[in-house]
Amino acid sequence: MELTVVDHPLAQHLLTQLRDINTPPPLFRTIAKRLTIALVLEAVRGLPSVEVDVLTPLERTAGRKIFPDLVAVPILRAGLGMLEAVTELFPEVSVGYIGLERDDATLRPTSYYEKLPPLAGRHVLLLDPMLATGGSAVAACASIADKRPAEIRFVCVVAAPQGLEKMQREHPRVPVFTASLDRDLNDKGYILPGLGDFGDRLFGTEPHPGARDR
Ligand code: URA
Repeated sequence: MELTVVDHPLAQHLLTQLRDINTPPPLFRTIAKRLTIALVLEAVRGLPSVEVDVLTPLERTAGRKIFPDLVAVPILRAGLGMLEAVTELFPEVSVGYIGLERDDATLRPTSYYEKLPPLAGRHVLLLDPMLATGGSAVAACASIADKRPAEIRFVCVVAAPQGLEKMQREHPRVPVFTASLDRDLNDKGYILPGLGDFGDRLFGTEPHPGARDR
């Protein structure tokens, strides 16, 4: 599995703000979107593009147009915090959604919602900010792969070694783009050092903002 850690100073600056316990939800949303732009710029490298002619005010010259056959799939709900960055960069993108939750009996991710456009032959950007145990990412990749896309590229803000190993085992052909490879998971499945619960911080639903016992 190909792993790209986006170490651009701006990406690292934004990630540090996301990690900060004192970053409130409105700022967290803005920063998450900016950081996703930096990640997606790396993630779309090498996407097919076509040569086009363009007429400048002075003369005709050759240019390139990125191949627009792109589908963004955020995993609900935290992936929604990454979606706007993609729709702004690629206004023609198609968007699908996958909702996964952990079945308390089996501890496996089960789908509670899935709405996907046709995927055959298309380029899929799968968005989920926290690659923790890898359960959701692996399940989402399996569901998408069933629909025969040309490729899947997985974009996350932070990755844990456990999630990367699972992706390597189950979907070795899916490249992963992240701003950080973090150290570990705690016993509740939170990434260390991480940034806490991304969805809660994004949507302001954290029961104890800044809970330190994770
Ligand atoms: N999901 C999160 O929001 N945070 C983590 O650290 C792990 C999974």
